[in-house]
Amino acid sequence: MYFIGAHVSASGGVENAPLNAKAIGANAFALFTKNQRQWISAPLTGESIDAFRRNCESCGFTPQSILPHDSYLINLGAPESDKLAQSRASFIDEMSRCSALGLDRLNFHPGSHLGQISEDECIALVAESVNIALDRTSGVTAVIENTAGQGSNIGYRFEHLAAIIDKVEDKSRVGVCIDTCHAFAAGYNLKGDGGLFGGGFDEVFAQFDSIVGFKYLRGMHLNDAKKPVGSRVDRHESLGGGEIGWDCFERIVTDPRFENVPLILETPVPEIWDKEIEHLRNLS
Ligand SMILES: [Zn+2]
Ligand SMILES: [Zn+2]
Repeated sequence: MYFIGAHVSASGGVENAPLNAKAIGANAFALFTKNQRQWISAPLTGESIDAFRRNCESCGFTPQSILPHDSYLINLGAPESDKLAQSRASFIDEMSRCSALGLDRLNFHPGSHLGQISEDECIALVAESVNIALDRTSGVTAVIENTAGQGSNIGYRFEHLAAIIDKVEDKSRVGVCIDTCHAFAAGYNLKGDGGLFGGGFDEVFAQFDSIVGFKYLRGMHLNDAKKPVGSRVDRHESLGGGEIGWDCFERIVTDPRFENVPLILETPVPEIWDKEIEHLRNLS
């Protein structure tokens, strides 16, 4: 089964997310379980949790088709100890919220070294953060997203993801989410020849499989890219409207290696999400 959806709004309550996803013809979705631009949010109420679970059931969404995303403020590789502590506490809270909602994974951007520590030191801090979070929670997998390599973000090479996984103690609760725009911006040419790290869909995912492994794949973000390969600029574009083009996305929804994980649009025109999903659904 191909689970195709979008990162939908949870405004007015998390229980609205499955309804918003259903309305665009999605059979998967992503959501924020709290305001992604604030450190503190009110705890989820029992009513909201019950309504979320009820709506997921009535709309046919299982945890396997849902990919919650954490707050943009969290930096699990932060060089300053107070920021690191705040990030770790917030991440544990987010994992707990997912657990309360009956969800089994949480997608996060690994972290930034802010020019104060090395990439390797940052990677080690991220892995330590994940170990702490997995220790304090249960039932939720930490899903590391690859990044475009913008600013001082780590996670722009498959080797970074593999290095974090390598240091995580409980391998059964760590996974990855590959964002096509981020991979392309980082230099993985999903369209054809050229780029820093190999050319073409087959070669990029062969590299992914040998360095990280498809067995760790827990989700995909399907985004076209506004900027050329290797730009290291994170600017999403609607599918087919950017530098990557339709072919990559059409291949994903017809390739069994991408079955049974949420395939999530984070494209910039929500008004056409239903059309983008329909295009992919008709092929899958
Ligand atoms: Zn993404
Ligand atoms: Zn992005």
